[in-house]
Amino acid sequence: TSKAAVTVIGLGPMGQATVRTLLAGGHPVTVWNRTASRADGVVAEGARRAASPAEALAASELVVLSLTDFAAMYDILEPAAGALAGKTVVNLSSDTPQTSRQAAEWVAARGANLLVGGIMCPAPMVGTEAAYVYYSGPRAEFEAHESTLRLIGAPRFVGTDPGLAQLYYQAQLTVFLGGISAVLQATALVASAGVPAEDFVPEAITTLDDTSAMLGSHDDLRAALSQRQYPGELSTVTMMGATADHIVAASTEAGIDTALPRAVQSHYQRAISAGHGQDGWASLYEVIRHMAA
Ligand code: NDP
Repeated sequence: TSKAAVTVIGLGPMGQATVRTLLAGGHPVTVWNRTASRADGVVAEGARRAASPAEALAASELVVLSLTDFAAMYDILEPAAGALAGKTVVNLSSDTPQTSRQAAEWVAARGANLLVGGIMCPAPMVGTEAAYVYYSGPRAEFEAHESTLRLIGAPRFVGTDPGLAQLYYQAQLTVFLGGISAVLQATALVASAGVPAEDFVPEAITTLDDTSAMLGSHDDLRAALSQRQYPGELSTVTMMGATADHIVAASTEAGIDTALPRAVQSHYQRAISAGHGQDGWASLYEVIRHMAA
């Protein structure tokens, strides 16, 4: 049986990897990119080049967008909106949940359906076992295209509210970007004393692994968050907060950036002010879950 045609709009590293994965899966793929030369590679590998967004939309019922943000979707689709009716648009671009919800309404008003996706892997891992993708939006459209979408990465449908996929995506990227900044911050602190950065960075990464293992084996964390009880017999917010103060002071002495250490310090300071000094570190959640007054 012949595989469904797919259109991919946006050929950055992620869009190109998506096209290659779909071609390898036997799908006819039509592509369009604002900077036309960026399509040359995938066209040489078998993708069909559309001359315009409207032509790209006309080629397939399933249209995958891989763009910097959702604003780019409007730039591309607004002039071609007449060609949208009946399409399923899968937007794998990063943006906020609210922006995703507005986009779902905009697409629906033009007679099409929007599935919002949050793709959880770097470009070289698209289409591999390690890749997974959060999806939200109309369930019937998701199920209709699930077998094709599965080629990109294991699909995880998280709900019909179109904002949910990007909510999960931004949550996971909070962990990812936070971890990256923490490792580089730690490395800069040690390097300030003349230690080669490349010598320390593997040690910092080991601590990231240890932190992950500690959190992963921390059954108490789930219990604490579900019961909103934060026992502090092993380590308290007051003790950890003193360390957070020392990190700010050491970073200041070293003459490096203090934005990240100060953000962490403020969680501890505010938890202590809120009466969590003798509770465990999980009680920071009570501070973090509200916007600061
Ligand atoms: P890039 O930002 O490199 O590519 C962006 C694409 O969007 C390009 O094709 C670019 O066109 C197009 N674009 C941007 N603005 C406009 C506009 N106003 N009008 C028309 N086209 C526009 O992205 P990536 O491929 O790296 O990523 C795509 C999405 O996937 C992003 O939202 C990213 O956050 C997400 N993502 C990326 C990962 C990664 O490792 N790279 C991992 C997981 C998710 P042009 O070529 O003309 O500039």
